[in-house]
Amino acid sequence: MTKRGRAAAVVEQLTALYPEALCSLVYDVDWQLLFATRLSAQCTDARVNQITPLLFGAFGSLEALAEADLAAVEDIVRPCGYYRAKAHDIVLCARALLERHGGRVPDTMEALLALPGVGRKTANLILGDLYKQPAIVADTHCIRISNRLGLANSADPAKVEVQLKALIAPVEQSDFCHRLVFFGRDVCRARSPQCGGCPLLPLCPTGK
Ligand code: SF4
Repeated sequence: MTKRGRAAAVVEQLTALYPEALCSLVYDVDWQLLFATRLSAQCTDARVNQITPLLFGAFGSLEALAEADLAAVEDIVRPCGYYRAKAHDIVLCARALLERHGGRVPDTMEALLALPGVGRKTANLILGDLYKQPAIVADTHCIRISNRLGLANSADPAKVEVQLKALIAPVEQSDFCHRLVFFGRDVCRARSPQCGGCPLLPLCPTGK
């Protein structure tokens, strides 16, 4: 089977396993997803989902966040780790969204990357989830599993993004990455992959 054929088979299996390819971060409006994603760096989505109701409860609008006392934001986001940098980015980003984008989250990679604290992982999540554009979110699950499956051969997120973009159909890319998150938690775990019961074992060159 070609690598592209294997990628298509992996997509099919993951789609059957996880029909609903939902983002694990909870949000109501576009900027909330942007800031939840910023908080998720080096932090679990479950922890972020505990903190964002507090953050968005205290600061219920972009305007409120743009004018927020930095120490107050730091206090709320502290459990997510790297809280000083994250609070700083969120407040500056709220200002940038109001000043440059009329309070909306932009829909291009270039504009997203120009926002404080926004890297390719966050930008791709926004493009895929909010704007339904083809997007590979090369997070820790995506990098680990795509390497184990032989669909990528790098620990560098930018390289994995390029390699997967060449293999996964554009319309599948965003959902594929959400499914990898669930699969990485349930089956292909970082320390103890459950290869014995894994439905992808016949497709996986590193499975045991
Ligand atoms: Fe991961 Fe093992 Fe499944 Fe391969 S066979 S995808 S390594 S759990």
